[in-house]
Amino acid sequence: MARCDRGYLCEVCGEPVPEITDSDLYLRFVLGEVDSRLLLAAPERHLRCNPVQAQFIVDPHFEPVEVEGPFDKRLQDPGEVSRREFRVTAAWRRLRELPGSGLPLNAYPLPPDSPT
Ligand SMILES: [Zn+2]
Repeated sequence: MARCDRGYLCEVCGEPVPEITDSDLYLRFVLGEVDSRLLLAAPERHLRCNPVQAQFIVDPHFEPVEVEGPFDKRLQDPGEVSRREFRVTAAWRRLRELPGSGLPLNAYPLPPDSPT
């Protein structure tokens, strides 16, 4: 699959996703949810175009995202929400460190979560 000059288009809003720090796909890759072989083939989305995931990013540098409806984290188990916030926020911070870091792609993902 050839990479478009404008970068990948978000499958939700149709706009380009210019930076990996805007990328839901790369966030999921850092989380270990996407295999590196799928990175070039999987659909791209902006972080904010996947609010169900983005609501778990809790950081002063990230404008909070709220979800209306059954996937609202405020309706979910607080312990599970805390675990998810910790992990997704850590992944997002790591994503911000990656540009220019010189790390190889396979060094991006966080260590696997401890089993719960
Ligand atoms: Zn989008």
